Amino acid sequence: MKFKLTISLLAVALFAIGCATNPFTGEKTLALVPNSQILPMAFQQYDQFLSEHKVVKNTTDARMVHDVGNKIAAAAEKYLKANGYAGYLADYRWEYNLVDSPEVNAWCMPGGKIVIYTGILPVTKNEAGLAAVMGHEVAHALANHGQQRMSAAQVQQLGAVAGNIALAENPENQALFNTAYGLGTNVGVMLPFSRSHETEADKIGLTLMAIAGYDPIVAAQLWERMQAQQQGAPPEFLSTHPASSTRINNINSWAASARAEARKYGVTTFRK
Ligand SMILES: [Zn+2]
Repeated sequence: MKFKLTISLLAVALFAIGCATNPFTGEKTLALVPNSQILPMAFQQYDQFLSEHKVVKNTTDARMVHDVGNKIAAAAEKYLKANGYAGYLADYRWEYNLVDSPEVNAWCMPGGKIVIYTGILPVTKNEAGLAAVMGHEVAHALANHGQQRMSAAQVQQLGAVAGNIALAENPENQALFNTAYGLGTNVGVMLPFSRSHETEADKIGLTLMAIAGYDPIVAAQLWERMQAQQQGAPPEFLSTHPASSTRINNINSWAASARAEARKYGVTTFRK
């Protein structure tokens, strides 16, 4: 009991020194390892991933990934600026790459480093479907979900770090980063986020795709197609993103407010 109390007090102390604000919810989140350390690690891992995989260039699909990525990034920038978070993305180095792989998968590392696998394109079907996936993945990065997971791993290891609150100098950060992002031996294999982070990413993702000019209702249709893929051996993306009817119902119920939010930015038509 006493041990537990000590641990929670330490957690509170660490929380006080390591906090970030989620610009979409206004909530304080745990950020023991700052983005200034996470982003360079992510950039390095991203480059390594690309060097070990076949990047598709100069095809219609590769251009679509780039165009939709640009639009989602621009939407994120507009939203953050309008909500008093100008500069939030200053350290982002947006990059969108299509990788030749039959895996049904996509992810975004911290700092805006996106990979779309060719295997997911038949499921995303068109630009708007791709925007739904990208909006969702970018949302995880913007809301610092990986950073929170990394911080949670650090709190779990409090025993080890309690005497060493100089986290900035902590050589274990690389290992923690690898654990939190599911990297290391399997570069690019992402661990699942918690259900609450998934829900949050769905909601933020709808706003981003709507500001980018895509109809958020398409996200519900995308998840229906994902659900159909779930029969038999579920693809990689679905092992971390279960396509449940709760998810689809939520998206349907949030679509109108995402459109309303986008109208504030002068978006009047939504591409399906
Ligand atoms: Zn997700």
